[in-house]
Amino acid sequence: MKIYGNKQVVKRLSDYAKNNCLPHALLFFGDAGTGKRTLADYTSMLYFCLEKGGAPCMSCENCKRVEKHIHPDVVYASCADLNAEELREGILPTTFEKAVEGGIKVYIFSEFQLLNNVCQNILLTYLEEPSPTVRFILTASNRNGILPTILSRTAAIQTFKLSEEECEKALSDYGVKNAGEAAKTYGGNLGLALNAAKDKNAAVYIELTRELCGYIVEKNEYKAINLLLHLPQPKDDKRGPLKILVNETEKIFHDAFVIAMDGKPSLSCCPELSAKAAKIFPALALNLIAEETVKFSKSVTENNFNSKITANAFVSAIFNAMEN
Ligand SMILES: [Zn+2]
Repeated sequence: MKIYGNKQVVKRLSDYAKNNCLPHALLFFGDAGTGKRTLADYTSMLYFCLEKGGAPCMSCENCKRVEKHIHPDVVYASCADLNAEELREGILPTTFEKAVEGGIKVYIFSEFQLLNNVCQNILLTYLEEPSPTVRFILTASNRNGILPTILSRTAAIQTFKLSEEECEKALSDYGVKNAGEAAKTYGGNLGLALNAAKDKNAAVYIELTRELCGYIVEKNEYKAINLLLHLPQPKDDKRGPLKILVNETEKIFHDAFVIAMDGKPSLSCCPELSAKAAKIFPALALNLIAEETVKFSKSVTENNFNSKITANAFVSAIFNAMEN
């Protein structure tokens, strides 16, 4: 395993480790593809590496097991499909059990922004009174869906995409053809570029997101809804395409809001569109549009999901928010 970019993050983790003060709960937040899961693994290695120091050796037995996700004391939970019962009765009671190897246990909750408030409150109790042998690592694409009470009990660390040069180097290391072009297309987002190299569909949906957001910026509701109602749908994954479009749209408008507030955008795969939206819409409307998309990224994962109804509701929520 190799960490590309995110040098400040690695330094901060290494300082914690050297001073023996790794927080009991960490939150990595940042755009999909910016290395949150890799950093969660890296942190787990810091907890378990047999060679103590500021950085995991990545070659001892424990580091290797963490990398392969087979260490018996690391528990993984994806919040995209986690319900209250499973959390309350399945996962959290195990925090009271002794670690298999007698040391600490690490719980990694990914896509934490998708966890509903009921579940977040259940977990909160465990964050408030942490067991001395339990560590929590949360990863989230943004902090918007996370309760303030959770945020106040975690050390939050933002992850960033790479520079295009760093990304190109990483892509060549991974054996991706046309690494330079891919790094440029995905603006230095290594995860997105790697996914696109593996999965041609992902690249198609990122392109469709740009088209969709173009229609939103042009205030053409008809074309926006038409595009969503005619998304290419893989047979085995009805909600996947809309999920990508909703998530990417959120990033584009989140960045537009950041630009409108004179901040530095960091998330979206299309900075030009964010800049254009920031010129056209007032900050309040941009913030509301971004908030609507966060709500929809949750509803895309709900059980009673219907792609046509969700697509219609999504576009009308965005165009209503635009009126502000
Ligand atoms: Zn090690």
